[in-house]
Amino acid sequence: MTTISPLIAGNWKMNGLTHSLGELTELARLLTAGEAPRALVVVCPPATLLAAVAAQGASSGIIAGGQDCHVNASGAHTGDIAAGMLADAGAQYVIVGHSERRTDHAETDDEVRAKAEAAIGAGLKPIICVGETEQQRDAGDAEAVVIAQIDGAIPDAAEQHEIIVAYEPIWAIGTGRTPSLEEIAQIHRVIRDRLVERFGERGQIIRILYGGSLKPHNAREILAVENVNGGLVGGASLLAKDFYTIISAV
Ligand code: PEP
Repeated sequence: MTTISPLIAGNWKMNGLTHSLGELTELARLLTAGEAPRALVVVCPPATLLAAVAAQGASSGIIAGGQDCHVNASGAHTGDIAAGMLADAGAQYVIVGHSERRTDHAETDDEVRAKAEAAIGAGLKPIICVGETEQQRDAGDAEAVVIAQIDGAIPDAAEQHEIIVAYEPIWAIGTGRTPSLEEIAQIHRVIRDRLVERFGERGQIIRILYGGSLKPHNAREILAVENVNGGLVGGASLLAKDFYTIISAV
């Protein structure tokens, strides 16, 4: 069986001012104090803090990531940020297609795919988010929705370039609710099968992260589920102690 090194990414969303960097310093201290973590650790702060996270990472192994990028490399797009700018600030990863972006900015799979392509073009590894609403799950459509997002949002370039998929059921984000372990295993299996169908052997080594109320108390069991190759963590990534507990649960 192919083994995939796990990855835990923290999504700070629109939280974090320079004084939050104390949490980052504490996370770096925890990560370097004991045994080396078994997972790659990525922190995706607001763009204003990217350079600071990248600088901290130089000594602690924390890798900086962006939370979104524009489809274009530059131009008249006030308020947006290009993938190359994230890379310039020290990012190595970027989240694309997070459900909050899909909702707040009406992002479609086509746009998410274009963003993932832009990220790859700038040398970044896109973390491509997919996931169903509660209504879609209740209607029995979760798998079909997620497969359609995989087909629509993952670029063909994934055949030669590293991408990460994050399965995030929307109803689990920030709610304290999670699918059962069986439900997580089932949908991650479906995602894996689709990736293999589309990308052959390479589909076996694409990381599939679970995201949605991943917390210190449930991380160990969720991260042990087959085809869960790490996590995307929102709220619990804001506190160094909680995020470190999740990282250590791998
Ligand atoms: C997220 O927004 O990506 C997320 C997983 O949030 P939370 O962990 O807070 O549910």
